[in-house]
Amino acid sequence: MAAAKEVAKRTYETAVELFTMLCEKYSLDPLADGVIISHKEGCARGIASNHGDPEHLWTQLGMGYTMDGFRKTVKAAMGGASSKIGCDNVGCKKITIAPI
Ligand SMILES: [Zn+2]
Repeated sequence: MAAAKEVAKRTYETAVELFTMLCEKYSLDPLADGVIISHKEGCARGIASNHGDPEHLWTQLGMGYTMDGFRKTVKAAMGGASSKIGCDNVGCKKITIAPI
């Protein structure tokens, strides 16, 4: 369980970095409707196959992550090339890296 949670956390952090980069590159607002949706949300919209990920995994592992939280974290991370995201089991926040 601890190992599974660690993998889920690493995957979440990597996804935040990737979606932050993509939203910056294509000037997308991560909070706007339909910009970032999960497979589960896609299914609910009738545009994806019947999957429950990743929310079902986050719930089973007790991660406390939500798609709304994910979108907000991406929004917060945008515009900061000198920052990275740090996450714990409570949530994620931007860590500013001091210039060398
Ligand atoms: Zn899926």
